[in-house]
Amino acid sequence: MSILSRNKIAIQKVYHDDVKSAVFSALELINAKDMMNREGMTVLLKPNLLSAKKPELAATTHPKVVKAVIHWVKQFNPAKIYVCDSSGGGMKPGTTERAMIASELKQVCDEEGDKVECIPFEATEREIYKVKNPLELNEFPSSKLIKEADLIINLPKIKTHNQCTLTCCIKNMFGTILRSNKAKTHAQFPSLNRFTSALADIYSVSNPQLTVIDGYLAMEGSGPGSGDPVKLDLIIAGYDGVALDTVVCKITEIPVEDVRYLAFAEQKGLGTTDITKIEILGESIGDVRRKFKLPSGIQPVSAWLPRKVADYISKIVFKARIGFDADKCILCGTCWENCPVGAINPPKMRKKGSTPIWDKKKCITCFCCHELCPEAAVTLKVPIAKNAIFSWLGLAVLGFIAVIGATLSLLLILL
Ligand code: SF4
Ligand code: SF4
Repeated sequence: MSILSRNKIAIQKVYHDDVKSAVFSALELINAKDMMNREGMTVLLKPNLLSAKKPELAATTHPKVVKAVIHWVKQFNPAKIYVCDSSGGGMKPGTTERAMIASELKQVCDEEGDKVECIPFEATEREIYKVKNPLELNEFPSSKLIKEADLIINLPKIKTHNQCTLTCCIKNMFGTILRSNKAKTHAQFPSLNRFTSALADIYSVSNPQLTVIDGYLAMEGSGPGSGDPVKLDLIIAGYDGVALDTVVCKITEIPVEDVRYLAFAEQKGLGTTDITKIEILGESIGDVRRKFKLPSGIQPVSAWLPRKVADYISKIVFKARIGFDADKCILCGTCWENCPVGAINPPKMRKKGSTPIWDKKKCITCFCCHELCPEAAVTLKVPIAKNAIFSWLGLAVLGFIAVIGATLSLLLILL
């Protein structure tokens, strides 16, 4: 694809809730059929499945948009279409499945037959991805589908965001980080600059070749989960996620420089924020502009911490503990055969009541064992308080408190 066509962006209005026509027109304007260059392709669709909320609350990619894109892809006779994400909200089993049901994406996929599958990233095989020229994040475990798909289509939603100001194309790929690894990533990169740099690193791994933005029902105010729905009635399609986010900023009147991951993504060569290099097709930005309310008091990701302390906290305090339920485990071997770093070994004696052996030092908390165990025998806990207390940092803090306490007691006795 030439540099010029990569910078094409189509802005299409949705008339009378006919989302399908708007999606098809936008993709035609940018000549997206060139991406579907053969039959039998495996296509991965990545919507925003933040949490288990109904479509009308505007927290998740609207099912009409996902359905329209599935229909568009189906014209080219693909072998398989996957609709995948990993929701936020901790480690409770079934978190993403619940979001898939509430958002109605599961229903959309079920109606489309065997070729279309709605599946959480954490229920697929794992791969460890190295980040090229990392700004912050060197590697992370995610789904093998990212590597195996012939085409990745990003399906983000336009929402304001209380940490990053805007979530759309680049931020949507944070969903390729598996469930509670999200909390760990936040902890590892506590300053906004470090976290948004890591977002650019994460996006660079999947780097979706095509994007269709849900601006049909957007969100303003207290996003990304609890803001106000905005019937913007727009579909925006293109190839360059950085350019697309820049155009969304212009439409919503959010200053591009306030969306910090855009500068980092541009620095990594992932696209352009230079509006003069973007060719807009369909509607003009001026004709569809609508100022969005921002979250009141945008929060930094967390308090500023020195780099070494943040790295330490993410590795030690947020470390999950893997356990095995001896009553349920049938020693089938699925967990140790699928652990990507060999952190699980079979027990020395294979007899009733024995369980696999977990190597805490090797474990990278990808949760593969937890998701794949056919007997639900793998348990997962993040004992933050225990980890903190029994870490060197925790022991040092306890020691410090003990010294202060002893000194005060001594002073009281002497006085
Ligand atoms: S996958 Fe589950 S049942 Fe099989 S050995 Fe591991 S813990 Fe036991
Ligand atoms: S033991 Fe750790 S690294 Fe291995 S599969 Fe389980 S969570 Fe992943």
